Amino acid sequence: MGLDARVPCRCWVDGLTTEPPIDRSLLGYEEGYVYAVKLADDDIDEFWNRADLVGYWSQTCCPHPGLEYCREWVGNWPSVRLFTTYVNLCDDGQFTVLRDIMPSVNGGEVSPVVSAAALAECEAFIEAVTGKSAYFLVDADTGKELYQHIPVYSGFPYGVPDTSGFDMDGVFVVEDQVEVFRAARARQQYQMNPAGDGWVMTLTSDDGSTYARVTRHRSEDRTWEVRCRRLRAEDIPCINALKRLFRACVEINMPVCWC
Ligand SMILES: [Zn+2]
Repeated sequence: MGLDARVPCRCWVDGLTTEPPIDRSLLGYEEGYVYAVKLADDDIDEFWNRADLVGYWSQTCCPHPGLEYCREWVGNWPSVRLFTTYVNLCDDGQFTVLRDIMPSVNGGEVSPVVSAAALAECEAFIEAVTGKSAYFLVDADTGKELYQHIPVYSGFPYGVPDTSGFDMDGVFVVEDQVEVFRAARARQQYQMNPAGDGWVMTLTSDDGSTYARVTRHRSEDRTWEVRCRRLRAEDIPCINALKRLFRACVEINMPVCWC
């Protein structure tokens, strides 16, 4: 799950492919895909046969398998949200194109003219993001950053309301929408539940306050800590894939298609 994007090649629109395996009147073209059209009185097996033929043909009909000049995995949805969060964080009118073109669902396209404008904004955007502060949930035992705080996700790493999360004031636990535990740093430990059904997970803060619950799944013992640091260019998700897509789009004058 996430966001992919592709820039179709020009071979079909410029008439540079090999001859298709079925009559051209039975072909459609949309967002860079050549496909077999389904007719009203079509036999379903015949239709799928034609669709397969066109599918195989499009893998080898030009130098670009699948008629794709460029394809990129932009990122999972939390990464895409984080990218748009950074854009909104920095935007005081100079990143309007980047702000407007990022999709929140799969589908849609960006024209070459708009891609050229987006590409021009990218470098200034990287400079604007660098040096701003961000919060990370860290495994304090190893120093590894596990999640970055995404403000629009209300402290939940994947944006899905859960029983625990973190924000700039630390890790927290909520039960029935009431915060029952909070700590800037908390040790998470598991012990067998004396009742024999699963585990008791305990969180202990540096000041000694605790939270415990029974769970069926045991995770690792670790120390959670929220740390703040300045952002670096390599923290910006999606940006390199986006730049490659915008560049390819401008280069061959074909749209970027989100998929
Ligand atoms: Zn091609």
